[in-house]
Amino acid sequence: MSVTNEFLAANEAYAASFGKGDLSMPPARKVTVVTCMDARLDPAKFLGLVEGDAHVIRNAGGRVQDALRSLIISEQLLGTTEIVVIHHTDCGMLTFSNADLRTKLQQELHINAENIDFLPFSNLEQSVRDDVSYLKDSEFIPKSITVSGYIYDVKTGKLLPVA
Ligand SMILES: [Zn+2]
Repeated sequence: MSVTNEFLAANEAYAASFGKGDLSMPPARKVTVVTCMDARLDPAKFLGLVEGDAHVIRNAGGRVQDALRSLIISEQLLGTTEIVVIHHTDCGMLTFSNADLRTKLQQELHINAENIDFLPFSNLEQSVRDDVSYLKDSEFIPKSITVSGYIYDVKTGKLLPVA
């Protein structure tokens, strides 16, 4: 049984009291958050965001290399001036290596994934520093863009500044 029926029921209730149909496209707070897709993270709640405030780009690990296309669009076309990178404790990206996943793909799907970097990491703070450095060094990210990095603690809900 798919969850889509539950989604449609929830959406009906949401739309019934919806009153934010006039927001403008560019994020009001001119900020883009890059964070993990982990189901335990609710960036709108832990950052105090409401509809229209920010771009939130999510992927496995919150890796910026994987978000670069969206970051360029966010800054160049939609006026954001700040990037906040948020990785988190107990992240799934700490639990496997590229070799592990490539072997699994070979065994289960008979696919050679040698050319895909899944961007796993073994040190959480280092992954945040690496991603902040990646953006600061990227020719696609102007020096005028503010970049900072944090770790979100899934046990406490707190953000820890890293870079
Ligand atoms: Zn994660």
